[in-house]
Amino acid sequence: MNRPRFIEHYRLMIFLGLLLAGCFFATSVMGYFVAKDLVRSNFIDQDLSLTASNISAEIQKDVVRAVLISSTMAHDTFVRDWVLKGERQPQAMTRYLAEIKESYGAFSSFFVSERSGKYYTGNGVLKKISRKEPRDAWYYHLRETQQAYEVNIDLDMANRDAMTLFINHRVDDFKHRAIGAIGVGLTIKAVRRLVDDYQARFQRTIYFADQSGHVVLAGSPGQGGDLRQRPGLGPLVEGILGGRTGFYQFEDAGHTHLVNVSYLPELKWYLFVEQDEDAALSGIRHTLYASFAISLAVTLTVVFLAGLALRRYQSRIEEMASTDKLTGLFNRHACAMLLNKVIAAHERQAQPVAFLMADIDHFKRVNDRHGHRIGDMVLAGIADLLRARLRAADFAVRWGGEEFLLVLPGCNVAEGALVGDELRQVVAAASFGKPGAPFSVTISIGVSELTPQESPEAAISRADEALYAAKRAGRNRVCVAPKPAAASGPSVAGEQIADGGAGRFGEAEVAIDGWRRNAPA
Ligand code: GH3
Ligand code: MG
Ligand code: MG
Repeated sequence: MNRPRFIEHYRLMIFLGLLLAGCFFATSVMGYFVAKDLVRSNFIDQDLSLTASNISAEIQKDVVRAVLISSTMAHDTFVRDWVLKGERQPQAMTRYLAEIKESYGAFSSFFVSERSGKYYTGNGVLKKISRKEPRDAWYYHLRETQQAYEVNIDLDMANRDAMTLFINHRVDDFKHRAIGAIGVGLTIKAVRRLVDDYQARFQRTIYFADQSGHVVLAGSPGQGGDLRQRPGLGPLVEGILGGRTGFYQFEDAGHTHLVNVSYLPELKWYLFVEQDEDAALSGIRHTLYASFAISLAVTLTVVFLAGLALRRYQSRIEEMASTDKLTGLFNRHACAMLLNKVIAAHERQAQPVAFLMADIDHFKRVNDRHGHRIGDMVLAGIADLLRARLRAADFAVRWGGEEFLLVLPGCNVAEGALVGDELRQVVAAASFGKPGAPFSVTISIGVSELTPQESPEAAISRADEALYAAKRAGRNRVCVAPKPAAASGPSVAGEQIADGGAGRFGEAEVAIDGWRRNAPA
C-alpha cells in the first residue's frame, strides 16, 4: 500500500490517535509544570527553612549550654585564685575539671595556663602547649582576638582524638589580664546524626561554614574546603558572608541548586541547607514519564479498538454492497470484481472458465398462481440449491430478477454442462410452496466457456444466447453455446445437451462431442 492510500485508509484512526495523544501530552505536561512550581515553592517557603531551623535549634541547645558552663568556669574565683597563687596542688584543678565534666555531662573539660603552658584535664596534666604545635594554634588565636570565647571543632587528644566541639573561653585575672583558657568539649555526634539524617531523608546537603567561607563541619566527606572555589556558589559567598543570609539559587554541573543560608550567632557559623532541584523533581519527572506511558498505551488501545470496530463496520458495508438481500448471492457489482480475479488466474495459468446462465421457467406463472411472496421464497430456495452444489472456487450471482449466473473456474464447457444438468435436476426434484400445496419449478441453463481473446462479457452473452436456445427448445434443459465465430467457424444458436425427459442425458454427451467437433483439434 503506497503512502497516500495508507493515509487515506487510516485517516480517521491517525486523526483519533493524534487527538488523544495530543490531549494526553498537553495535560501531562501541564500537570508536570504545576507540580514542579508547587514543589519548588514548597522548598523555598517550608522545607529548606524548616530543616535549617531544626538543625540550628538542636545546635543552639547544646552550644548555648556549653557556652554558659565555660563562662561560669572562666569567672569562677577558685580558678582565678588558684592560677594567681602559682598553680600549686594541680590535683585541685584536676578535681575541679573532673567535677565539671561529671556534673554537666560534658565530653571533656580543660584549662590551659598562660604562665606555665600546662594543659589540665579531669585526669591530670595532659601536656604543655607549644606555639610550634598546630593543634595548639587555637589557644594563641583566642589570646589575640578580643572575643570572650571561641567555638572550635577539633580532635580531642584527651578523648582518643574524637571530633569535638570546644568552647574555648578566656580567663582573665581581676585586672582583666589574660591568665589562660578554660572550657568544655562536646561530642558533635548528636549534631552529626541530625545532619546525616536530614541528608539521607531529603537528599539535602548540609554543611557549616565559618566567617572566612571555609566549611567547618559537613554531613558528607566531600563537602570540605573553601566555598569561594565552589562552581556556581563561589560568586555568592561574598554577599552571604556580608550578612545577606536567606535564599540563593545557583547552577552547578548543569543542575539547579537551591540553598538556604542561616547564621548561627553562638558559633559564628553559617548553616547551608542545599537541595539539588533536579534530584528533588525526579519524583514528579518519573510521574510524568509514567503518565506518558499510560497515555500511549490508552491511545494505542483506543486506536486499535476503533480500527477493529471500523473494519467490522466496513466489511459489513462491503458485504451489504456486494450481496443480494433476497438470495444472499453476489450482486452484479460484486460479480465484476470477482470476475477480474478469475480472469487474471485464467490468463496466468491458462485455466478454463465456464459460465452458466440459469433462468427459472415460467416464473411469471409462479408469481401469478402463488403470489409474489411465495415467488420470493422460490427464488431464495433455488439460490440455496445452487449455492450448496458449488465448489469453493465457484461463485453464483443474481444476474437479473430470476436469472442466475454461475462462474466455474477450472471447468471447461463439457464439465460446466454436466454441472448445469445436475443443478437442473436438483431444482426440478425440489418442491416449493406451502406444505399442503407443494409445487415444483424447473430452470433452463445456457453454458459457455471463455475462449482466448474473448472478454468475459462476450462469453456471458454467449451463455445467455444458449439459455434462450434452451427456452426455445422447450425449457428445463441445458444448452451449450458454440465457440465464437473467430475461434470456431460458423456459429450455431446453441446446442441442447439435455432436458427433463427420461434418458435424454445420452444426447447431452453427443451434443458435447458436437461442440468439441467444432473446436480446433
Ligand atoms: P420464461 O420461462 O420465458 O423465463 O418465462 P418467465 O415467466 O420466467 O418470463 P420472464 O423471465 O420474462 O419473467 C420474469 C418474471 O420474474 C417477471 C417478474 O415478475 C418476476 N420477478 C423478477 N424479479 C422478481 C422478484 O424479485 N420476486 C418475484 N417474486 N418475482 C420476480
Ligand atoms: Mg424466466
Ligand atoms: Mg428471466
